Amino acid sequence: MKIGFIGLGVMGRPMAGHLVRAEHEVTGHDLSPVDFEGALAGSVAEAVRDADVVITMLPADPQVEAVFPEISANAPQDALYIDFSTITPQTSQKLAQQWKRTLDAPVSGGEKGAIDAVLSIMAGGSAADFAAAQPVFEAVATTYRLVGGPGAGQYVKAANQLVVGGTYALLAEAIVLMEAAGVDAAAGLDVLAGGLAAGRILDLKRTSMLARDFRPGFRIDLHHKDMGIVLDAARGAGVAVPMGALTAQLVASARAQGYGGLDHSALLKVVEGLSR
Ligand code: NAD
Repeated sequence: MKIGFIGLGVMGRPMAGHLVRAEHEVTGHDLSPVDFEGALAGSVAEAVRDADVVITMLPADPQVEAVFPEISANAPQDALYIDFSTITPQTSQKLAQQWKRTLDAPVSGGEKGAIDAVLSIMAGGSAADFAAAQPVFEAVATTYRLVGGPGAGQYVKAANQLVVGGTYALLAEAIVLMEAAGVDAAAGLDVLAGGLAAGRILDLKRTSMLARDFRPGFRIDLHHKDMGIVLDAARGAGVAVPMGALTAQLVASARAQGYGGLDHSALLKVVEGLSR
């Protein structure tokens, strides 16, 4: 397929690279200079002109909304538009009203998941467009599911970030409690990892959190954006998410204290600060 890929950052560049290796004809475009194994275009218009599939992997709503008019003015009318960015469900729904074949398809799995092509993708849109997107999803992900109509993917991604953020906050509290009580926190976390509290975050992050190593990873700044989406999505769906609201405030505090560039496990610094 001919693919126009806009946004070759931390996630987009390795994802677009996998599409090149899967023998698609990929033309990439980014505002910043990037080195990319496919063809590079100097503008969005040029990247999408003959595309069968147009992809965006951009930071947030404003960037997607800025680029979309140039896509819709220049892409072939029957092109499939896949937006991998994490944005609000409301914006995804708006785009779907303006472009017939649109999938919101946010991803989970981080930079490592993108590099190893083992992402999880939650897609919103029509079954026909989801089927048409299969060769793209196959090249970058191991798990991909259609979870509903336009915006549905973003709601599932919001649920994902709600659980991830809340889990970090609770893990931080567990560490603070054990260390303050003078018990062996490393041994304690080993036990937690073997019981009902086990989980991926505990497995991947317990050693670095105990060592206060907060190199990113997924930055607090991005999680702050995502907690805003969670609260917005909850409001849109008409439900209360009190744990999500609390987590959002802890993430906001991390950002306000200057930790925006650190990994989201740096929530530990905020939780520690509450008991100092
Ligand atoms: P990033 O900032 O590394 O990449 C975004 C790229 O878009 C940048 O290279 C930027 O130059 C480019 N860009 C911005 N505006 C543009 C424009 N108008 N035209 C062309 N290019 C433009 O971000 P990322 O980490 O790749 O994240 C992208 C999305 O994926 C975000 O929504 C993020 O929340 C989500 N996400 C990130 C991760 C992660 O671990 N980094 C994991 C899952 C989901």
